[in-house]
Amino acid sequence: LAATDVTAVFRGFQQAVQRDRDLLTDLDTAVGDGDHGTNLDRGMRAAVEALDATPPDTPGAVFNLVGRRLVSTVGGASGALYGTAFLRAAKAAGAAPELDAAGFAAVLRDATTGIAERGKCAAGDKTMYDVWTAASAAADAALGDGLAAVLAAASIAADAAEQQLVPWQARRGRASYLGERSEGHRDPGAVSSRLLFDCFAAWAA
Ligand code: ADP
Ligand code: MG
Ligand code: MG
Repeated sequence: LAATDVTAVFRGFQQAVQRDRDLLTDLDTAVGDGDHGTNLDRGMRAAVEALDATPPDTPGAVFNLVGRRLVSTVGGASGALYGTAFLRAAKAAGAAPELDAAGFAAVLRDATTGIAERGKCAAGDKTMYDVWTAASAAADAALGDGLAAVLAAASIAADAAEQQLVPWQARRGRASYLGERSEGHRDPGAVSSRLLFDCFAAWAA
């Protein structure tokens, strides 16, 4: 994964978020304040604009630019959480010109830890973190099989995790205010995170 590849993945993510903006917002209307789709759509549009204006030349610089843009344009929890994830990813990627399987898995590990620290969340809280941690574990497990296998495994695990947490009770974020009434609802941030991992896998396919 070179800088242009990571940029292409983020372009794909921006398009996926734009396409599913209303779904993400409807899911957030059911368990939160109904802004997840518009939040992330605004943030990713700004991120892609920044990538177009000054194309970064390393994967780390791409993650850094996207992370900074999300933090500055998305007010909600997801802006801070995605922003932190991508800023940590940037740090883990360093100045490397490309990410291989091990590099990507390391980036994903640090990004996932960043979400846990920023969100003070744990596995089972029914947030986007559950999807990231499943994707990261799957990436680590597929390490020996190469980058395409790592990206495919992360995406499959992300999809499964998002579905698995639907019956659970939310324990972090606005959805947790609903208590038991959060059971049976999809988590908006988990669904958008799943879209991101699907975009990485689509790049490799
Ligand atoms: P807000 O709740 O501020 O309106 P969004 O609607 O954009 O922000 O994002 C909501 C999503 O953010 C949730 O679906 C959940 O996945 C994630 N989230 C919220 N709070 C936390 C947290 N403390 N830890 C991890 N993820 C969280
Ligand atoms: Mg919201
Ligand atoms: Mg909000």
